[in-house]
Amino acid sequence: MSLLTLIQIILFILLAGTSGYIAFKKFKEIYDNIHRGRPEIIHSSLGFRLKSMLLVAFGQKKMFKLTVPAFLHLIIYASFVITQIELIEIFLDGLTGSHRILYHAFEGSFMQSIYVFVINFIEVLSLLTFFVTIIFILRRTTFKVKRFQMPELKGWPWKDAMNILGFEIILITFIFLMNGADSALHSKEHVSGYGFLLSGYFGSLIAILPNGALEFLGRIGWWGHLCMVLTFLLYLPYSKHLHILLAFPNTFFTRPEQKGEIHNMPAIQYEVQSMMDPSFKAPETEGEIKFGAKDVYDLSWKNLLDAYSCTECGRCTSACPANQTGKKLSPRKIMMDTRDRMEDLSKGIKKHGPDFTDNKSLLGDYITKEELRACTTCNACVEECPVNISPLSIILELRRNMIMEEADSPVEWNNMFANMENNQAPWQFSPSDRLKWTEELN
Ligand code: SF4
Ligand code: SF4
Repeated sequence: MSLLTLIQIILFILLAGTSGYIAFKKFKEIYDNIHRGRPEIIHSSLGFRLKSMLLVAFGQKKMFKLTVPAFLHLIIYASFVITQIELIEIFLDGLTGSHRILYHAFEGSFMQSIYVFVINFIEVLSLLTFFVTIIFILRRTTFKVKRFQMPELKGWPWKDAMNILGFEIILITFIFLMNGADSALHSKEHVSGYGFLLSGYFGSLIAILPNGALEFLGRIGWWGHLCMVLTFLLYLPYSKHLHILLAFPNTFFTRPEQKGEIHNMPAIQYEVQSMMDPSFKAPETEGEIKFGAKDVYDLSWKNLLDAYSCTECGRCTSACPANQTGKKLSPRKIMMDTRDRMEDLSKGIKKHGPDFTDNKSLLGDYITKEELRACTTCNACVEECPVNISPLSIILELRRNMIMEEADSPVEWNNMFANMENNQAPWQFSPSDRLKWTEELN
């Protein structure tokens, strides 16, 4: 083994190891943030969970409510998944100092044809992804699709989306540079070349370069590809693109209840039960009883997992009647604010310890009461979400806190609550008058 190869192996191990360690620490931080949420038991069978995950996350079923974006997204998604095969070879090459280790390992066997087929398939998908990425950039910058122009996407979320699209273009360029230079070199030594169709064509254009220059270009492509993959790994936990990982657990833990079903609060339920049945004994509850959620860690771990899984696609906001009628409410912003609050608290906890407080809360400092009051609980956001997120669940918890802990509700709502308590209906009629309207009927 030459000294240069040894240096390359050491550099590869240092780069990949350090990036992996830093990324692992951030992923662990996210895991801890989610587990700071209050417990929630999801009563569903393994079969239901697997079905949800396979249909919604893996099969992208709900994406197809909008056919064209779904199809374009599917190309990027398939390309991302299949490119991992080429990545395995890059890692094996990095660790052993070899080049195209799998191609040579399969030399002369049927597996070599499979290898060439897979690389060709990756290249076709990569080229399609290149064009789709351009369309996605245009969709945000030139076509100005409405759901990507809303106020909550200004600043970092906008840059985040553009960064990832930029990463993709650079990554694909490096793949073709590496494969093209390799093809050119290989075809100089073997008449048949590697058999890579797209990069083989590119290789034939640069084959006039001397071998040294082609080797250099191939190395740039290889290291460039690797660096982009590691950059993506480090960037992922700070980005909305974390959904490419979290969509799977999030759909796995889909709540089996009807969408929008409102859960009883145990403390209230026990109170009512003991009023109706004096022999009823409420179970002991530990610690202070809180109604709803004021801050992120009053929400359940599933609410917090939802927030980290949000793709910021805005399908929920586009379908939200409150948003459509000009109210401040955007269910996408509810998810983004929840995530931002978790990240802000997490930074504080890392710096000052687990008792850190900044005298702020999700309710009030991040999400306003005006936004919460605008929700009609229609459930459209839950129905539309491609990764089974429920913004409504967070809205309800915050609203419960606002009303039951702070007694802060508009006078119209208070009248309705009083009517429900006294008349068992939202209207101001006595239950005994309910059938009066029938008296006028023949
Ligand atoms: S449930 Fe609320 S937030 Fe969701 S779409 Fe309906 S009004 Fe909007
Ligand atoms: S909650 Fe769902 S629909 Fe709304 S932006 Fe996030 S991923 Fe998209």
